[in-house]
Amino acid sequence: MGALTCERSPARWSSALRVRVTPETCAGTGVCAFYATNTFELDEEGKVRLMAEHVGAADDLRNAAEACPTHSIHVGPSG
Ligand code: SF4
Repeated sequence: MGALTCERSPARWSSALRVRVTPETCAGTGVCAFYATNTFELDEEGKVRLMAEHVGAADDLRNAAEACPTHSIHVGPSG
C-alpha cells in the first residue's frame, strides 16, 4: 500500500493531522471539495490538489477522505 505524496500536492498539516492526496487515482468527482471547501480543489486536469497551507477542520478532512470514492485522500496523524 502506501500512498504517494505528489510533488504537485505536498502534504499539509492541520493541528495534529497530516493530509495528502493522490491525484493519479482521483476521478474528479469534487466530493472532497464539497466537504472541505478550503482544502481541496481540482486542477486544470480535473485532479485533486491541496489548495492552502492551513487546511480545514479535522472533521471536514476526515469526512472528505471517507467520502472519496477512489481513496485518493489520506488523513492521518502527523509526525
Ligand atoms: S473525492 Fe476523491 S475522486 Fe473525488 S475529486 Fe476528491 S480526491 Fe478526486
